[in-house]
Amino acid sequence: MRAPLDSDTRLMANRPWITARDLHANPDLEIPADATLTPLARDLVRARGQEPRRADSAGARREALVVANWKSHKTRAEARAFAAGLAQAQATHGVQLVVCPPFTALDTLGAALAEEGLAVELGAQDVSPHGEGAHTGEVAARHLVEVGCRWVIVGHSERRYAGEDDALVARKLRVSLDAELQPILCVGETLEERKAGRAESVVSRQLEVALAGVSAGEVGRLALAYEPRWAIGTGLTPTGTEVTELLQHIRRRLVAQLGEGGAAPAVLYGGSVKPKNAAELMGLPGCGGALIGGAALDPVAFAAIAAAC
Ligand code: PEP
Repeated sequence: MRAPLDSDTRLMANRPWITARDLHANPDLEIPADATLTPLARDLVRARGQEPRRADSAGARREALVVANWKSHKTRAEARAFAAGLAQAQATHGVQLVVCPPFTALDTLGAALAEEGLAVELGAQDVSPHGEGAHTGEVAARHLVEVGCRWVIVGHSERRYAGEDDALVARKLRVSLDAELQPILCVGETLEERKAGRAESVVSRQLEVALAGVSAGEVGRLALAYEPRWAIGTGLTPTGTEVTELLQHIRRRLVAQLGEGGAAPAVLYGGSVKPKNAAELMGLPGCGGALIGGAALDPVAFAAIAAAC
């Protein structure tokens, strides 16, 4: 069995960890009851005869992706209340919903969503660039897999403000892909950079560094989010033309860097999306969905944005 992360995972060697790569290499592999399966391995097991898959994690995802980033909000009790509220809001078809709570609420929220019968996927807001080991305070990709995450936000602007550079973002993307998680890579310029006419070149640089080690086989598991840093949590939004230009720029860079596979990932818009502006933003050419902060704390508003996609 292959340990997917860095050398720290040697410490984990006595615990079973099963990836889709393991299952492809050995279709008859017996899965121990205490094994942790990556999201892609879970998909494979389901596809081999049990439950149908909801989404094609190999890149054929066509539905809009609508992601809630709760930032440092909500206790576990509040996460349960959100799940109940979302269940009461009108069901949305043709949209894949993802909720990214604080680490402490992942487990509880996953269970609450399942109890409500909601096909909402779980994501984390960040990941350690390391495997398991002596990294105090870090949460490793494997821990996210264990609590049922499929997605992980990488390179959010609030992490970049906290000091993350492009190289660290690239490392987080790498460990996420190795753990068979699906990263949502955030890119975007500051107001200063936009005013200086550098929005596209900044985003190009962020993409170039982050995606340098991504293979053709992995690209379909990515999602991108264009999040102008000055639009996050401020109530400000770029014009439709500005968003469209950057979404198209991101797509061109993806294809230039990763070949035709670069056409597969959803490219989302994020930055002060609210129910009242969602239809306009989500209707822009090339917009594959939304990454939502403040408005996604309210299940009714989150459902309303999803309905506009
Ligand atoms: C975010 O946190 O990614 C975000 C877009 O926040 P907000 O919607 O509050 O601007």
